[in-house]
Amino acid sequence: MSPADQPPVAWRPVRDGVYVTTLAPASVNCGLVVGTESALLVDTGSSPEQGAALRDSVGTVTKAPLRHVVVTHHHWDHAFGLAAFGDVESIGHESLAASLSSEDGRTTAIEHGLDPDRIGVPSAPVSIIAARDLGGLHVEIGHFGPGHTGGDLAVLVPEARVLFAGDLVEQGDPPQVDETTSMRNWPRVMESLLTLCKPDTIVVPGHGDSVDAHFISWEGTGLDAIYGQCEWLVGQGVAEEDAYDHPELQWPWDETWARRAIGRAYAELAAAGVTPSVRTLPIQAVPRA
Ligand SMILES: [Zn+2]
Repeated sequence: MSPADQPPVAWRPVRDGVYVTTLAPASVNCGLVVGTESALLVDTGSSPEQGAALRDSVGTVTKAPLRHVVVTHHHWDHAFGLAAFGDVESIGHESLAASLSSEDGRTTAIEHGLDPDRIGVPSAPVSIIAARDLGGLHVEIGHFGPGHTGGDLAVLVPEARVLFAGDLVEQGDPPQVDETTSMRNWPRVMESLLTLCKPDTIVVPGHGDSVDAHFISWEGTGLDAIYGQCEWLVGQGVAEEDAYDHPELQWPWDETWARRAIGRAYAELAAAGVTPSVRTLPIQAVPRA
């Protein structure tokens, strides 16, 4: 699809100077923050063409020049528009370039009909925290350790009290788990996000409707149950395949999601050297007379 074939990007105001649009095919929420001097985008869409359409649409909201784009994490629907922002500062976690150019990243691009050599990499890596002044508004960009992926960034607009959480927060569907997810640390990341929120902060999730700090607490509690329960089960010698049906436990969200999250937690526990210990009964063979 060429940029001209892209459906028009419709921005919805969230607070003064802050806008959200939701783009097909993944219903990803992208953000726009407009100051008096410059504008900043949050996430780039799912292809270079969609990234170009997103970039062009900034002019329908403001005359302020687009100077920065933040990629919240490496997943295709957030990052694959990056190539459209070659002359704009593109900010991503320091692991983003490696994720996008990895074998997995290249395979994902091909699966989506894209040339992996055209995806691009961010120009401004962030390891922990960064800030940008847009004039009248500024943004703070933070990484709080591995969570949804190994390299999530959250974007706070303090003056507007809006937090773009990427897929650390997901409304409508369960939070997505992949092979880079940290079930162990994600709940801690959610606690960090909570410290950024005021009672009236609007939290824009990577997908779904805007939520508030209570939703972050609720999702964090569900995530915390997975790792904590799996750690207990492993201590009891329960194998991964028996974990979901354990009679004493309940799991958040639906069964398909929970089994995937349990698998991820067991993999993390195994990587940390914690595996179900095999319990054998103390019966010894009695020698025949
Ligand atoms: Zn994602």
